[in-house]
Amino acid sequence: MQSIVLSVVVPMYNEEAVIPALVDRLRPALDGLGVAYEVVAVDDGSADRTAELVLSRGAEWHELRLVQLRRNSGHQAALTAGLHRARGQWVVSIDADLQDPPETIAEMLRTARDEGVDVVYGVRSDRSTDTPFKRHTAGAYYRVMRRLVGGDVPAQAGDFRLLSREVVDVLKALPERAPVYRLLVPSLGFASATVPYAREKRAAGETKYPLRKMVALAWDSAANFSAAPLRLATWLGVTAFLACLALMVFGVIVWSNGTVIPGWTSLFLAVLLLSAVQLICLGLLGEYVARIYRTVQSRPTFHIGFDSASAPSASSAPSASGIPQQRSPAAVR
Ligand code: UDP
Ligand code: MG
Repeated sequence: MQSIVLSVVVPMYNEEAVIPALVDRLRPALDGLGVAYEVVAVDDGSADRTAELVLSRGAEWHELRLVQLRRNSGHQAALTAGLHRARGQWVVSIDADLQDPPETIAEMLRTARDEGVDVVYGVRSDRSTDTPFKRHTAGAYYRVMRRLVGGDVPAQAGDFRLLSREVVDVLKALPERAPVYRLLVPSLGFASATVPYAREKRAAGETKYPLRKMVALAWDSAANFSAAPLRLATWLGVTAFLACLALMVFGVIVWSNGTVIPGWTSLFLAVLLLSAVQLICLGLLGEYVARIYRTVQSRPTFHIGFDSASAPSASSAPSASGIPQQRSPAAVR
């Protein structure tokens, strides 16, 4: 078999509405590259006909491959599954909803080869199609992350990027539990370049990133790359301690003057405040302990139930139910 030059990893969660448009645009863009490629569509435990559609499109587009996770494991876990299964010398990750224009992949590959870099980030030069809420929260996210991780994080670089085989192998070897690739990749320090692109509108369907998932990603990003929240606990403690010292002096002065006030309100407020501070600090500590716990448990963050590239050709056609036959659980990462 001809060795694969480019793998395109596309995480998909309930993306049935967008698959026809995606195939129609991705295929010519990749065929035009003139290199051997594969498209790794990672079905992240969709409840709709995503897997079925990918398989049926794959019957005529042989480069389209389905990797199906047993349950919804989240965007970053789906990316991890894709990186583990990708076979190309270069691996591009791209969203399924056509917000990242597939035509940019050609420029990314050219840039990587011409400039001899290992990573090419797609940088969103124009986000006017995103909602103002998304733009503002994303802006704040990148500002905070640049401070936490260091200046190397390219602003407005999401998960549309090209990686060399070397970077992919390094990422695969990391024991990280909840990787946030947009920060992890820059932190590795490989030579990189950027390619600007205008963020388009979602071609069809709804966003799969509700506020809850955005907050989870932001917290994973902060906690994975920085112990600053723990330091915040220390600073809160120091501030509370200094305030207590001042209050102690005040208490002694009041006592020595013989004018002891009833003092219920101040006592009540001090107890409330200090308990709140203590609980916040405990909670922060707990967050990190939970991460250590999950790392020690070292359960896989995703299970691959089916891979059309390793399935016998008969079972790569949709089964009667439309859902591919599951392969043995041995196909776990
Ligand atoms: N996605 C996924 N699993 C999830 C949520 C999202 O694989 O649990 C995929 C989704 O199908 C899409 C990509 O991640 O290909 C980005 O999601 P989306 O476009 O909905 O996010 P947004 O652009 O609104 O931030
Ligand atoms: Mg999107």
